[in-house]
Amino acid sequence: MTYAVAQAAAILATALFIFSLYWMNDPKTARHAVVAGVTGMVVAVLATWFQPEIVHHGWIVLAIAAGFLVGVPLSLVPLTAVPQRTALSHAFGALAASLVGISEYYLHGAGLGQFKMSALSFEVLLGSLTTTGSLVAFAKLQGLMPGSPLTYKGQNIFNLSLLAVTIICFVCLLFFPGASLLFYLMLILAFTFGVLLVLPIGAADMPVVIALLNSYAGLAAAATGMVIGNNVLIIAGTLDGGSGFILSIVMCKAMNRSITNVLFGAFGSVSETTQASEGQMREIGLDDVAVQLAYARQAVFVPGYGMATAQAQHVLRELADALEDRGVTVKYAIHPVAGRMPGHMNVLLAEASVPYSQLQELEVINPEFPSTDVAVVIGANDVVNPDARDNPKSIIAGMPILEVDRAKIVVVLKRGQGKGFSGLVNPLFFKPNCGMLYGDAKESLTNLVQAVHNA
Ligand code: NAP
Repeated sequence: MTYAVAQAAAILATALFIFSLYWMNDPKTARHAVVAGVTGMVVAVLATWFQPEIVHHGWIVLAIAAGFLVGVPLSLVPLTAVPQRTALSHAFGALAASLVGISEYYLHGAGLGQFKMSALSFEVLLGSLTTTGSLVAFAKLQGLMPGSPLTYKGQNIFNLSLLAVTIICFVCLLFFPGASLLFYLMLILAFTFGVLLVLPIGAADMPVVIALLNSYAGLAAAATGMVIGNNVLIIAGTLDGGSGFILSIVMCKAMNRSITNVLFGAFGSVSETTQASEGQMREIGLDDVAVQLAYARQAVFVPGYGMATAQAQHVLRELADALEDRGVTVKYAIHPVAGRMPGHMNVLLAEASVPYSQLQELEVINPEFPSTDVAVVIGANDVVNPDARDNPKSIIAGMPILEVDRAKIVVVLKRGQGKGFSGLVNPLFFKPNCGMLYGDAKESLTNLVQAVHNA
């Protein structure tokens, strides 16, 4: 009876996880996706808890309490800190997988068959390297250590050799599962490899690495499911691993990078970022911008990280409303890696009730820029850097950008001369059709709404 209920619960949880991923595809159903995911997790935890072999209920209650203690503050971080929060979550998930593997090995060691031993070693290897890799990614994104790539001579050869020794330990363990020294050596090497893997990665590549670590954490969880015979864990881990991997590929495409290049290319190292820019930035007055917008036929807003930090999405919507009242066509151009997490701009604009139909993806909006009267860049920088298109020597060469420089007039809202995430100078700001409206994005937009009403 208990077995049948557990199987039914496993099927229900699995279905909820699959629907959760499916509903995440569309902002209209994204809330259902969150509810389905949370419900699936609650069902999975309860179904596992009520198994007859679980006898120490006090420990489960303690673990749930500890989860709440850590999880609640983590859920309160601002959206701009979500990448580092996600990195921490991956570290926790991967550490859990690794610890389960270590305890299983400690309990059964030499008695494990070849299949279980391979799943267990895989789980410990991936779990351990993901734990330390995610912690380094967290430290970089949180500014606790330099965000730029940390490189040294022979780094790739050293890292690959270390990985090779780790894999040799892995293979040997399949034939000699009782060789505990090898197991613990593999564990230490995997923890070390995680650190070394992420140290040389920096700048704009961090989002891809986070997605990749997500994938590793999921696969480690799936392997845990195989070791302890938990089907929900196998399915949830595989879904997590698969979706994380697809996300890394999508992000690589959005930045025109290959996974190997991300992992071994040390993109964004300081020596590569030096570049020249010609001309002078031209400051533009608020009233001029208001008049240009008020009499435009089409205005395109290009939000970026600065809009998120300024929390300017609501007042941006107010400006759009004021312009639409005057007959201006308003569109929003969305770059896949604008902000600090995938879908960051979509989430913020949805929060401000911007109609989803006005959000245009890169391929759709780029051909429209030449016929756009005013493109307003709100705290975006890297995603509108024309060097990616025009300068083959730039470290972001080939990364698809929003081609705002092709609009008739470009207005950039930013606080000063600050650079973007990649640390590059942006030649857009020096172009003759570009004017800089300095100030906090929310403040500038608030003043613009007023000025448009008066125009
Ligand atoms: P960005 O290149 O990081 O530039 C943001 C700009 O916003 C800065 O130049 C800054 O200039 C300005 N800014 C900051 N606070 C502001 C405020 N309160 N008001 C007005 N302006 C403000 O942003 P992006 O163009 O959105 O590009 C995103 C970058 O992050 C890409 O390089 C991407 O690869 C990377 N990234 C993306 C993700 C993701 O998944 N989306 C995750 C991690 C990293 P001032 O200081 O002069 O104001």
